[in-house]
Amino acid sequence: MNSKPLEKDPSCRDDFDPKSLAPSLALEQILSSVCPLRDTEKIAIREALNRVLAEDVSSRINVPLGTNSAMDGYAVNADDIPETGTAELPVVGTAWAGRPLQQSLEKGSCARIMTGAILPAGADTVIIQEDVQREGDLIRIDNSTRRGDNVRQAGEDIRAGDIVLDKGRLLNPADIGLLASLGIGEVRVSRRLRVAFFSTGDELRSIGEPLDEGCIYDSNRYTLYTMLKRLNADIVDMGVVRDRPELIEEAFLSAAASADVIITSGGVSVGEADYVREILARVGSVEFWKVAMKPGRPLSFGRVKDAVFFGLPGNPVSVMVTFYQFVQPALRAMMGDRHVEPVTIRATCVSKLKKRPGRIEYQRGILERDAAGAMVVRKTGAQGSGILSSMSQANCFIILGMDNAGVEPGETVEVQPFFGIV
Ligand code: AMP
Ligand code: MG
Repeated sequence: MNSKPLEKDPSCRDDFDPKSLAPSLALEQILSSVCPLRDTEKIAIREALNRVLAEDVSSRINVPLGTNSAMDGYAVNADDIPETGTAELPVVGTAWAGRPLQQSLEKGSCARIMTGAILPAGADTVIIQEDVQREGDLIRIDNSTRRGDNVRQAGEDIRAGDIVLDKGRLLNPADIGLLASLGIGEVRVSRRLRVAFFSTGDELRSIGEPLDEGCIYDSNRYTLYTMLKRLNADIVDMGVVRDRPELIEEAFLSAAASADVIITSGGVSVGEADYVREILARVGSVEFWKVAMKPGRPLSFGRVKDAVFFGLPGNPVSVMVTFYQFVQPALRAMMGDRHVEPVTIRATCVSKLKKRPGRIEYQRGILERDAAGAMVVRKTGAQGSGILSSMSQANCFIILGMDNAGVEPGETVEVQPFFGIV
């Protein structure tokens, strides 16, 4: 008999292992070893959605450019507003949006004014039309309006010279509109990240091919492709690479020649892992981690030549979880995005959740409002790492911490929503 314990490779099946790496440390290591791309390009703002600004953008103009009316009404000088009772003011003309009144207001007079119209010289206040009584060429007003009411001051939104968007900002539709409002048609952004990926596995079939016995359709390439598309990456889909060392080596080398990042799924845990490791040791420097998480336990990270390499597990849910928790923040950081922290919120869990201490679990949940309007979350059903429908039904991860030993209905849990409106 031999008393030496077996040396085991990381596996999806493993549970607690004191040698495994906390997910926060894995992310820290990953983020500290990737650098933002240096190359930038100037592009039209319509093309800049989900791109990252490579320089601060400042305004060359005041917004609004001129002091103007926030309402339809009458432009007056507040000195002419009576302290008590009412006063009559003649209407000397009309100021339209885009067509200013060409004269200044004499004391004791007023002008009809439309929303967005420049305030005539001599006026400092707009009385809304509902608050005046019009009598022919006169208006009768009372003291219900204060000086400066219903007026937008020049530069009250943005002053010329102000920085409006910081370097490192991921541009959203509001930002694009803001740039347009400043008359800025082009912005300098980091160039797109080039990401190559392939699946490994003899059992994988592509859509359109017959499913022989024991085979499955390759879904990871589709989730990876679309997750990368959302990040606006320049995607190189290298297809399925069969479990043969020379093919895998060739795939790594050709990916490293053109891409900033290489992502693989499957084949890096047990079984066929050995020669993947051998190849990676030869062409790069890659670490194989057991991460204290479920799903997504085995993960490898490092470099192949100059490219950053992520070896994700094969199981479809594990691929998505590890992508969102590690790959996406790293890619965002490489894109120059300085705001990579995921948003989490707290919600009341209405399901009973099973969980073992010693690892972080990313269970799939549905976050919604209950009848009283409070945020509640329930699980999507079976939580196996191969059950992709659990991801499809979910709209959030329920993140259960290292020490958590299960959740009873009514307990508060941390939730990472999948959605955001801008
Ligand atoms: P592996 O890490 O290669 O042992 O794969 C773990 C599990 O994930 C196995 O059941 C594989 O069949 C499955 N798997 C691996 N790659 C893919 C893929 N591209 N699409 C769907 N399932 C996959
Ligand atoms: Mg495999």
